[in-house]
Amino acid sequence: MIPGTATIRQVPAWQAELARAVTEPTELLQLLGLGQEWQAAAEAAARSFPLRVPRGFVARMQRGNRHDPLLRQVLPLAEELGNVPGYSVDPVGDLAALRAPGVLQKYHGRVLLTATGACAVHCRYCFRRHFPYHEAQASADHWSAALAHIAADPDVEEVILSGGDPLTLSDRRLQEFIQALTAISHVRRLRLHTRLPIVLPERVTPELCAMLNQSRLATVIVVHANHANEIDSTVRSACDLLADSGVVLLNQSVLLRGINDTPEALADLSQAVFNARVLPYYLHLLDRVHGAAHFEVSEDEAKKLLDMVASRLPGYLVPRLVREVAGAAYKQPL
Ligand SMILES: *Cc1c(COP(=O)(O)O)cnc(C)c1O
Ligand code: SF4
Repeated sequence: MIPGTATIRQVPAWQAELARAVTEPTELLQLLGLGQEWQAAAEAAARSFPLRVPRGFVARMQRGNRHDPLLRQVLPLAEELGNVPGYSVDPVGDLAALRAPGVLQKYHGRVLLTATGACAVHCRYCFRRHFPYHEAQASADHWSAALAHIAADPDVEEVILSGGDPLTLSDRRLQEFIQALTAISHVRRLRLHTRLPIVLPERVTPELCAMLNQSRLATVIVVHANHANEIDSTVRSACDLLADSGVVLLNQSVLLRGINDTPEALADLSQAVFNARVLPYYLHLLDRVHGAAHFEVSEDEAKKLLDMVASRLPGYLVPRLVREVAGAAYKQPL
């Protein structure tokens, strides 16, 4: 910002909502009318990866249900604390794929930027839960190292902002990046991987939509919903705004034990996202990250589940079942 131009501005509503997220296990249990018997374990597990969940997402959980599929995605559990063989802190080889601070390139034609370490929600299954974001944020130097890397490689047609969650960045920060990216002629597509339209739909403002709509870049937003209960009217309105602005909306999910590991849950999820103008893209097998072993669904079981989903839905509502294999040329279909 140019010195002297700072004016007192109101914090946008979404930023206030982001700041008001629930971060104390006791409060979350209280809000849901659950007993405090899980508090000690939750606090212990939250020490290595803190609890964080927006209030609007908590409002979609069923009170009194400890197995609520939305709650299970965010509540720290004792199961996270044990060491399970085969589970590591960098299961998908992200550190080996770092090309510049915050710049990951694994696949032809597209680079992924870890734009920020911040997320609106902390997903207990997240494969980046141990990622050293402080060493690897593309936006830390006003994007210059990341942009230089992209400009130097004419094969890069698509730039993916991931995270952390790129929509936790302010509009000003995003605008700065999109403008610079638009000036690189070989870049055609911008993709954002974000949970904000789902967990904090207030983020999808007319200003954000206008910014995306005005860019010459084709824009794809991949939202991350894992269960149909995540999609309520606030999410549908946010996705409507994005779709009306010409953004292509896709969903990717992680197959999670106890959350969406039935054919009904997966079929309902596909239909719920479709009703929000979002098409299913990938269903990922869990990345074997330390602390997430209790979410694992085996490959065999996953294939059977997908087969049952495919026998009830049109092809365009069946996500592609994939696993990320460190060093492979693309996400591996199963
Ligand atoms: C997952 C991922 C992508 C995106 O892969 P698509 O198959 O295009 O969705 C790109 N870069 C990196 C580093 C990734 O991990
Ligand atoms: S929003 Fe994405 S990056 Fe952030 S914790 Fe959840 S899965 Fe991980």
